[in-house]
Amino acid sequence: MDTILVVNAGSSSVKFQIFSVEGEGKLRRLIKGQMDGIGSRPRLRASGADNDALADRVYPIEAVPDLPAAMGIAGGWLRDELRISPVAVGHRVVHGGPDFDRPVLIDHGVVARLERFVALAPLHQPHNLAPIRSLLANFPALPQVACFDTAFHRTHDAVADYYAIPHQLHAEGVRRYGFHGLSYEYVAKTLPQVAPEIAKGRVIVAHLGSGASMCALKGGRSTESTMGFTALDGLPMGTRPGQIDPGVVLYLISEKGMSASKAQNFLYRDCGLKGLSGISNDMRELETSEDPKAKLAVEYFVYRIGLNAGMLAAALQGLDAFVFTAGIGENSVRIRARIAEQLRWLGVTLDEAENSRHARLISRSDSRIPVYVIPTDEELMIAQHTLSLLVNRPSSNVRHVRVS
Ligand code: AMP
Repeated sequence: MDTILVVNAGSSSVKFQIFSVEGEGKLRRLIKGQMDGIGSRPRLRASGADNDALADRVYPIEAVPDLPAAMGIAGGWLRDELRISPVAVGHRVVHGGPDFDRPVLIDHGVVARLERFVALAPLHQPHNLAPIRSLLANFPALPQVACFDTAFHRTHDAVADYYAIPHQLHAEGVRRYGFHGLSYEYVAKTLPQVAPEIAKGRVIVAHLGSGASMCALKGGRSTESTMGFTALDGLPMGTRPGQIDPGVVLYLISEKGMSASKAQNFLYRDCGLKGLSGISNDMRELETSEDPKAKLAVEYFVYRIGLNAGMLAAALQGLDAFVFTAGIGENSVRIRARIAEQLRWLGVTLDEAENSRHARLISRSDSRIPVYVIPTDEELMIAQHTLSLLVNRPSSNVRHVRVS
């Protein structure tokens, strides 16, 4: 059985999934797992396709000091106990910079190019690259594919990717990239099956999870995004503020005496829903809280989504549909209802019953703008890209698989 390993590596955890390659290029998810607490309290957990627990083990801190060690243990478990040796590995890589507009087969040259973008995503890119490097060193013949969060947005008109700053900085890479691209790509690929006519039109997709952004799709291609140079911009998130006057950052440095790295930590970890509520970054907790600050945080989240929807509708010069996805978008009946209220002026009327039962179409039949819930699947997207690059390699031995 041919299998593909999908890796999503962060600062203290590495998530992985195994897909089997079935006939006609179809992929079936077999295993979901993660090693978290790297360098603090390492723990490997994994479950099978039916959510059946396959592993739950803790390790001494010295056994898993870093990401390569975590990859080694997870890989060893897959190989030795489950007899799974993937034919290829697909990685989520946050930044493909201005160059990469699609996934790419990895070699040393690609890694060197991706290292240049560490400065653009210092909290993510180094962790994404660490397992790539260790697999390249230990299994040089194993094909690896990098799939970028930025690539899907490379279809923007140039004007959408500029900041009003001197040109030289743009040339250096200081531009609006947009993120969550694998999620939007999955939604864009799924929408034609859900609503074929609408998929050809103007659609706003709201990826509302612990990270949050919105994307304007025209005919399935990204034309605008709420995120920019980094994943700090746009909507308020679990712990990130979203759009903020750069003067606030200058104030933090000049008046509060924050160093650049302290300001960075503050903006990535202490703001957003967590900072505003002073309670939690988890929407579930805020939704059930009676604390006025929790209510304000939820109100701010909903309000900013409404504002940004107006901006994206302007970019699209109209709107044909709105789509919710990711943790909050897929699961919170109340937040969806409140956002729909914000979008009423655009022609949105929600069907309460359909919203409550998490139907795929949650707007009323007389709503001028239909509203959908499409659960995202970034890992499947990565696995599909990986398989597609694998079968198209000159030396491929899995070419009997056709990929659309
Ligand atoms: P994600 O990053 O897409 O995994 O989304 C994670 C976030 O989704 C969590 O931080 C929660 O705030 C939110 N979430 C998950 N389930 C629910 C729910 N039933 N109601 C509200 N928020 C939820």
